Amino acid sequence: MASTLLTVQEAVSRILASVPRPKETERVCLENALGRVLAQSIFAPRDVPGFWSAAMDGYALAGEDLPQDEPKRFRVAGSSFAGAPFRGSPSRGECVRIMTGALLPKGTDTVIMQEVVTVEPEGSVWIPPGLRRGQNVRPPNEDITQGALVLEAGTELGPPQLGVLASLGIQEVQVFRNVRVCLYSTGDELKEPGEPLEPGELYDSNRPLLVALLQTLGVQPLEVGRLPDHPDELLQKLRTASSQADLILTTGGVSVGEKDWVRTILTTLGRLEFAQIAIKPGRPLAFGWIGESVFFGLPGNPVSSFVSFCVFVRPALEQMRGRRQVGLCPLWARIANAFSRRPGRTEYLRGRLFVDPLGQPTVSLVGPLSSFALSSVASADCLVVIPEEKTHLPEGELVQVLPFNGLFSP
Ligand code: AMP
Ligand code: MG
Repeated sequence: MASTLLTVQEAVSRILASVPRPKETERVCLENALGRVLAQSIFAPRDVPGFWSAAMDGYALAGEDLPQDEPKRFRVAGSSFAGAPFRGSPSRGECVRIMTGALLPKGTDTVIMQEVVTVEPEGSVWIPPGLRRGQNVRPPNEDITQGALVLEAGTELGPPQLGVLASLGIQEVQVFRNVRVCLYSTGDELKEPGEPLEPGELYDSNRPLLVALLQTLGVQPLEVGRLPDHPDELLQKLRTASSQADLILTTGGVSVGEKDWVRTILTTLGRLEFAQIAIKPGRPLAFGWIGESVFFGLPGNPVSSFVSFCVFVRPALEQMRGRRQVGLCPLWARIANAFSRRPGRTEYLRGRLFVDPLGQPTVSLVGPLSSFALSSVASADCLVVIPEEKTHLPEGELVQVLPFNGLFSP
């Protein structure tokens, strides 16, 4: 009955209210910090840059010495390069040849770009009138001021964050411990690529798909395997997994068929929190606990398993990794194909984004629509979200889309 189903939003809220934030941390050097989540806030130990410098190649001089009405000749007293500064201080009527990023010599506050200067062969230059004092210089701390909050705890360290940490002279940071994940696909019909298929068998696609999704979130699963539809084996495996994993994922066997053991075992070993969500594809999904381990029993159909990972597991995992921000910022696009359906469930269709001739973000639906047709995901670049109550979307209607590069980075 539709009224007994949780909405997607309710399910996500319940998941986030119950999965833990990490406690244990470790220290890593920047080389090993890509994709890790900061456990400490970073305050700048120094100004960046730490000194006055030239923003252009040219000539440094004291601004009060600039000519007012007519060109003025300056003697070039020396040069200042990045990393090889001019040690003296120029007198009145003198300037210093300077390159971008080089330390401003003592007593100077202005850099005249070389393009406006006339160079005399014997080592002096003509500077034209009408130039502004203080131009083309970078003040210290133009980028970062000492003591400022630069990165908040809970920030994932990507390339820009690692660059900023290095610019501050930081070598090591405190990050949260990696989440320990065990992942099992279930199904007697599943085979590995390379094995021959008997009638009724198919290759296990969920496992490599989910391993890769985990990897894009910085998780290298502790254990990955395939389990038969046999209650004893499942029970043994999940019991062992719960002694070592923070998060256990299974796919398949979560329905109410005669060989669907996952829910029964979850109830025997631990606690089933809920299994009925108004989502399509992605039903049913079991969320609960086995001991201290968070448990998600994902559906067997590959598209369902992909969608439920993106919608439910990803935010849970982000929270368990210590990320401050676990939600996604949705995008809006016009739908290129009219779409009709029965209401009652939030539906996640596969789409491809493009820009229409008027420059508007537009999304076209990608099929096949069925929940086992994984090829639709492979040719899509986003999920298109159809709200629960919607029945008909005319062409051109604005819809919410979740680009894959927010859900995972390909
Ligand atoms: P189940 O939820 O176990 O009943 O599976 C639903 C459908 O998904 C069945 O057609 C299964 O064969 C298929 N399926 C289950 N697990 C996988 C998997 N790991 N890879 C590909 N297809 C699967
Ligand atoms: Mg099965």
